[in-house]
Amino acid sequence: MHNVTLIKGDGIGPSIMDAAVAVIDASGAKINWQEAEAGMSAYEKTGTPLPDATMQSIDETRVAFKGPLTTMVGEGFRSINVELRKKYDLYANVRPAKSWPGVKTRYDDVDIVVVRENTQGLYVGLEHYLTPQKDIAESLAVVTRDSSERIVEYAFKYALDNDRQKVTVCHKANILKFTQGLFLNTAREVAKKYPQIEFDEKIIDAACMHMVMKPEQFDVVVTTNMFGDILSDLTAGLVGGLGLIPGANIGTDAALFEAVHGSAPDIAGKNIANPTAVMMAGVMMLTHLGEHDAGMRMLHAIEKVVNEGKYVTPDLNPNSTCGTKEMGQAIVDAM
Ligand code: NAD
Repeated sequence: MHNVTLIKGDGIGPSIMDAAVAVIDASGAKINWQEAEAGMSAYEKTGTPLPDATMQSIDETRVAFKGPLTTMVGEGFRSINVELRKKYDLYANVRPAKSWPGVKTRYDDVDIVVVRENTQGLYVGLEHYLTPQKDIAESLAVVTRDSSERIVEYAFKYALDNDRQKVTVCHKANILKFTQGLFLNTAREVAKKYPQIEFDEKIIDAACMHMVMKPEQFDVVVTTNMFGDILSDLTAGLVGGLGLIPGANIGTDAALFEAVHGSAPDIAGKNIANPTAVMMAGVMMLTHLGEHDAGMRMLHAIEKVVNEGKYVTPDLNPNSTCGTKEMGQAIVDAM
């Protein structure tokens, strides 16, 4: 039995998480869910977006399965996602994007894993105004050699463990010579230790263009926090959208699994959100917990339903009248 903290989250969170939990429970994995609150819904109920009880639960379980959390833009409380990543030092954000035979997109051979540094760069939250009138703002990016080294090491080890051939570092060291330069130089050093894996480097803007035009030249991509955030939405677009891409946030002694997408307020409460991304995050979580057989059963059932394209949400098939719940049930039935 594995203890897992379950945070259903905001917006579409509760509906996609209910569907995902039903599928995980049907996979044969024995999970003892500890439900906890975070985000806007927690703030409304308890006055804080990250209650102590939630952190106590993660302190104990060291594994969390989390729905998306709403973060106010430019005001209000800071991102709880960033808070959790910092608190549990979840330094590696792994976001695989693979073409689905049943989902029609411009390409049918995309298979890219973005490994994003998750704790540093421009997302450290060191921002302030320089004038009382608030007309000059400053944001600091922090990059350390140690953190760069461990994320690039993670990317190479991931490549080795998952039969991948190539690691591409994406950077902007031509302009940001200190922060991005440190990241790139560290990546070059680490790459020397892995001669069996091809190493490539691309400037981030060119990388975006190459990824859209020739995605097959990318395999594992390692990059800093903000570039990874943006690039993984791009890879999501290449394979059929945000409803399909999972994200694993991995630390040395804790891990948090979620979708790449947010709380999608525009479709919340309509039972049309695609639960595939959080379910795929569930597959990553089962693998992390050592539940390989249950994870594979779940993966094959998700693939069957998505590729058949019948019991899928409208983002995957505009003619479909199938909702989140029904898609979840079809996946349970397929299993
Ligand atoms: P979003 O990812 O929520 O939505 C972007 C677009 O994709 C919307 O049109 C939405 O309808 C669609 N979409 C997203 N998930 C979908 C799904 N499962 N099925 C079908 N369509 C889906 O991004 P946003 O609108 O920029 O952000 C909304 C909120 O989510 C913000 O408060 C943001 O801060 C937060 N957010 C949270 C996380 C997280 O918790 N990890 C990640 C990203 C954004």
